[in-house]
Amino acid sequence: MTPDLLEAGAQRLQARVQVQPSGQTAAGGQTAGFARVRNSQEVDVTHGRILYLEDVNVSFDGFKAIKHLSLDIAPGELRCIIGPNGAGKTTMMDIITGKTRPDSGTVFFGSTIDLLRHSEPEIAQLGIGRKFQKPTVFEQLTVYENLELALKTHKGVRASVFFKRTSEQADRLIEVLHTIHLESSLNRQAGLLSHGQKQWLEIGMLLMQDPKLLLLDEPVAGMTDQETERTAELFLSLKGKHSLVVVEHDMAFIKAISDTVTVLCEGAVLAQGPLAQVQADERVIEVYLGR
Ligand code: ADP
Ligand code: MG
Repeated sequence: MTPDLLEAGAQRLQARVQVQPSGQTAAGGQTAGFARVRNSQEVDVTHGRILYLEDVNVSFDGFKAIKHLSLDIAPGELRCIIGPNGAGKTTMMDIITGKTRPDSGTVFFGSTIDLLRHSEPEIAQLGIGRKFQKPTVFEQLTVYENLELALKTHKGVRASVFFKRTSEQADRLIEVLHTIHLESSLNRQAGLLSHGQKQWLEIGMLLMQDPKLLLLDEPVAGMTDQETERTAELFLSLKGKHSLVVVEHDMAFIKAISDTVTVLCEGAVLAQGPLAQVQADERVIEVYLGR
């Protein structure tokens, strides 16, 4: 691949986080009034939480999509979020990543970083990675080039602190390839991968940026049973090193990976606890009638 193509790809990736329909974010990633991301900014988890939402409310044209939502995620935790369509699961992720601004409420990354004071690109830079439902890898590039591109795109402050030498970057790339089970497809064009492999590659692209918190929206939708099982193993291997918030409908998958499950309904937490406990909850059974 030519350096020009790599550069163009990096710009496309950047544009993906920076362009906002609402025009909230300036092209340079800085918005007047927002706090600046400092090079040394670390997440303070001394209070036992990496993510903290309290009494968050969001309305779209008078429709209350999120109502008094509170959520607490511990460092290294793998939290599963379930709930019927329209419950507000994706909107919750939009709020955490700065895509949607709540009308009121508190959203903190660790105990000191007020996410409502940061723009979407800044939040990504702080170490919150997001996987959308559809895979968005660069189909014409190889697996290796996609991962390399993810690194290049994140060459901002965190990457330059984290990766002191090029050899460290190479080590990281190999480690990620191993984690996502794509070592043998290193030079394969991403467009030729199966749907599941594309999803893993995109997760790998996020991992190249060493996120502290990963948000994954319906990661196993459309996967085969075997791919789903491997994805469960992958997520379990990420737990502890990263904090994960996973939205999914696939109950076998949730059963395989979950500790605590949060059930969202009509924009609020309906129930929370081990899967068996929430599945036995009358209110949960009612909203899931027949599912
Ligand atoms: P889930 O991901 O749980 O299926 P969503 O967060 O996508 O639910 O949606 C929650 C509710 O908010 C839905 O009723 C949806 O139609 C509405 N909604 C989400 N985003 C917008 C938006 N940008 N404008 C208007 N309504 C929205
Ligand atoms: Mg959704």
